Amino acid sequence: MFAELTAAASTLKAAADITQALLALKTDAAVSAKVVELNGVIANVQQQLFQAQADYTAIQSRLKELEADIEKFQNWEQEKQRYQLHQLTEGTVVYRIKPDMQGSEPVHNLCPNCYQNGVKSILQKYGIQHGHHSVTCPNPNCRAVFLCEKQARRVMPPSPNTTHHW
Ligand SMILES: [Zn+2]
Repeated sequence: MFAELTAAASTLKAAADITQALLALKTDAAVSAKVVELNGVIANVQQQLFQAQADYTAIQSRLKELEADIEKFQNWEQEKQRYQLHQLTEGTVVYRIKPDMQGSEPVHNLCPNCYQNGVKSILQKYGIQHGHHSVTCPNPNCRAVFLCEKQARRVMPPSPNTTHHW
């Protein structure tokens, strides 16, 4: 954008020079030729200013995006302090809400992958996987599954062949 403004300024200087030259001209034909030249210069400077305006608008919207990113980052930096590492089962570690930070919220766990990426994803129940209860990350970009405690052994129903002693 700065380049366009510099160009616009020097183009305006050229326009001023042409205007100055106009005053010295003696014939109508010479004046007409200079006026055509002047119009061309004015069209150029308009084009440069339009471009600068478009660039400025783009810069402004990028600035807004960056400000929103910074705010999100700062919020997450605060929010992440409410959680600490917690072992669900041997080999499975997630982030769990600290007891003194829980307030009225139920106990919940965050996906450690998303946590590292600055995203808060609350793990949800996912049923039995490989004989373990499990939870999954709801973030569509992650979808990680974490194993919890082993599934309790089912109590086998009595076999129909069991001999009854009366
Ligand atoms: Zn995740």
